Amino acid sequence: MKTRVSLRFKYGLFVFLAVGLLVAASVNSQVGREQSPIDIDSEAVVPAVLPELNFMYSTRVSLTVENEGPGEEFGTVKAFVPDGAATLKVGAEAFELDQFHWHIPSEHHLDGKELPMEMHLVHERFDATGDKKLLVVGVWIVAGKKPHRELDKIFSALPALKGEEKEVERFNLTKLLPDELESFRYDGSLTTPEFGEGVQWIVLKEPIKMSVKQIKAFKALFPLSNDRDVQDINGRIVKTEMEDQDMDDEEEPDDEDDIEDDEDDD
Ligand SMILES: [Zn+2]
Repeated sequence: MKTRVSLRFKYGLFVFLAVGLLVAASVNSQVGREQSPIDIDSEAVVPAVLPELNFMYSTRVSLTVENEGPGEEFGTVKAFVPDGAATLKVGAEAFELDQFHWHIPSEHHLDGKELPMEMHLVHERFDATGDKKLLVVGVWIVAGKKPHRELDKIFSALPALKGEEKEVERFNLTKLLPDELESFRYDGSLTTPEFGEGVQWIVLKEPIKMSVKQIKAFKALFPLSNDRDVQDINGRIVKTEMEDQDMDDEEEPDDEDDIEDDEDDD
């Protein structure tokens, strides 16, 4: 009888451990395998024909700027954009800009390195079934000699207390973007709880510049940083726009079924 009891005990222990592992695995899988931010390895980025980006941003809007938790890991300062003030078309799909906010240091890394700050332009669209799709444009921020004049309307007097709001008038949203719109694109998640996936990410290659003073003003509100750690890429592919197709000396693969390009750009 003794052996049987001990066997039963061992079996019980095994079941207990197995259930424990399953619970742990399911908790883990709730966060998912397509998380953001990531470290973008520029050597591994795949050139592809990607839908064109068409930013239709208003040059004169009123923003509501709100501090959502100074000093907090997932806190930030958000600038809310009025409905219809800014649309981003990605190919034929139109996304509306809802709000933009900042992280210090950057959330996306480039070749293993973080940058001083990152701005997130959070866009949304509702598909035919009424589901909300999110698309976030990430813009890296580096230190330059001059202050960013448009962002100074916000950064010269950031709301410092949790829940504090201020209005910013006559803001030109087009000034948030760099000159070049080449990008890194991949599928990821929100970088704040609940880390929901299915978020399209477009991280622009060219950073914008802010003065050290402006960056320090933000740092003063988030002295411990407010960036999420980079997440495992888990086999995801980061794409970038193909080089200009007009390049003559590009080697063409041997292909008998060359499809004629019917586009006549007069
Ligand atoms: Zn963000």
